[in-house]
Amino acid sequence: MYNLRRLCKILPGVGYSRTRWMASQHKRRPHPGSLPPDRMDQLRSDIFERRQELSSAEWTEVRQSLVEGYKHINGHNVDAVILGVCSEPRQLPLAKNYVEFLRSRGSKPNAATLGRLLRVYNAAYHERPLSKEEQDEILQICRTLQAEHETLDANSCEHVIHGLVATDGEHWQGALSLLDMMKVTSTPTLAAYSALVEKAFCAEKSDQELSWRLLEEMATARKPPKCEVYLALLNRLAKETTQLPVQLRRLLEFLERYEILVSKRVAERLQELAQQVPHLLQANCTGLGPLGKCQSCQQHLQPVAISDEQFRRLSECFLERVLIRRDVFQRSTPEEVNRFKKYVEKTAPYDCVIDGLNVAYSTGTKKSPQQLAKLVATVVRHFRDQDKRVLVLGREHMRNWSKQAIHYVQSNASLFLTNNLSHDDPFLLYATLRSGRDTDFFSRDLMRSHAFHLGPELKPIFRRWQQEHQFSLVTQTQTGQIIVKEPIRHRLCVHEVAGTWHVPYCEVYTVHPTDSFEVPASWLCLKLKEPTPLETRGKAKS
Ligand SMILES: [Zn+2]
Repeated sequence: MYNLRRLCKILPGVGYSRTRWMASQHKRRPHPGSLPPDRMDQLRSDIFERRQELSSAEWTEVRQSLVEGYKHINGHNVDAVILGVCSEPRQLPLAKNYVEFLRSRGSKPNAATLGRLLRVYNAAYHERPLSKEEQDEILQICRTLQAEHETLDANSCEHVIHGLVATDGEHWQGALSLLDMMKVTSTPTLAAYSALVEKAFCAEKSDQELSWRLLEEMATARKPPKCEVYLALLNRLAKETTQLPVQLRRLLEFLERYEILVSKRVAERLQELAQQVPHLLQANCTGLGPLGKCQSCQQHLQPVAISDEQFRRLSECFLERVLIRRDVFQRSTPEEVNRFKKYVEKTAPYDCVIDGLNVAYSTGTKKSPQQLAKLVATVVRHFRDQDKRVLVLGREHMRNWSKQAIHYVQSNASLFLTNNLSHDDPFLLYATLRSGRDTDFFSRDLMRSHAFHLGPELKPIFRRWQQEHQFSLVTQTQTGQIIVKEPIRHRLCVHEVAGTWHVPYCEVYTVHPTDSFEVPASWLCLKLKEPTPLETRGKAKS
């Protein structure tokens, strides 16, 4: 029998410790939606991680103490909270024990509670094969949830998807209609997508085309697939090696198209795969030399520069469709836009277009107007010293900063000042693209939304153009010298050079990868080999 004194020590509302605990909580009230981590961690480690089941009396105590002890926990959400705390794979028996406890006292677990239970089954499924009985339990819960509501909310859809994919046979295919149901109200979540794609790759009757279609949807919606998705594909290819050359190439092309950085876990799985089938795949860890030279195969990575034709399409689309139809000049008046266009026609082309305000504030905003103006003048001098023709974009109020510095800018560059309310980057991109494919620009802005509005086909081209042409200010030294970040001229994403793929990877998966142009430290140098006809025939026979 469980030591009730121990429970008393941990739980806020149990026995003698209640008063003291409530008193301390009065001073330090938890934020709504979060539990005081120390209490909850203790509950987790001292009870939920040690026990397979609790008696009715104990569950009653746990439940009651949570409702009484935490302002944001009530009779309606306490069951889901409890199942959320025992969510580890090995806690499945305890989670089930809690739901049995609820049923035994005649209460019906709500959708959120059953949904959480499905997630625990899913966690267990990722550690071990589920028994037939466990799978039947999952299907029963899914049926219950779906029978009660004609349309499930997005959360419940996500839970049921996680339940269905944890079962054998073809039940998982029912998850597809739930994904569609989620689309009615919003974009399906990353977790829902990833669970389904992973299953479509690894199911006995896998559906590769479905996986790829959903992967495209995810990437377009800027939801980077979780590592498990790629691992499922690689595990499958480890078993069906005849498919490896085609499917792996497809994966690499996908990663290239969406500039996706895989994690170390995926890179290591690729290396294991190469050890398993050295006649089909070679993989070496590598790093890059200063000019983008692979230290493994000694080849230089592809230059990031885009072709003349790509530049023509990019600037045409940007100038016509994005700037004008999408009205990104919306915070400017039509008169101002026309004045600017005429000014550019008259003074272009430039070698470099500088976002004056962005430069001025890039080493901190708490500077005197004189310092701000001087920084802009120093950046102008940096380019003038290289005989570059420069356009500086700024705001009307900059005139008042420092007569001397603005005079320097005006005598050494073209200067166009907009209304104080305008957005600067549409002007910056317009003048840069209008000047031709060799023109650079100077700004720290990542231009995310502009890249996004170009659509999936032109976005990667825009990003390559941006990487090749964007300069920015790193810092200004004590002596007033500036350190400028120059563009990196080779590609930074997955790509192929003369039959060898180069795959950058990061330490851990991240939902929000940065859009800045940093050189990844770790790379794989991958060589995909076509199987010889003899090998293909040999495999087909076996
Ligand atoms: Zn290489």
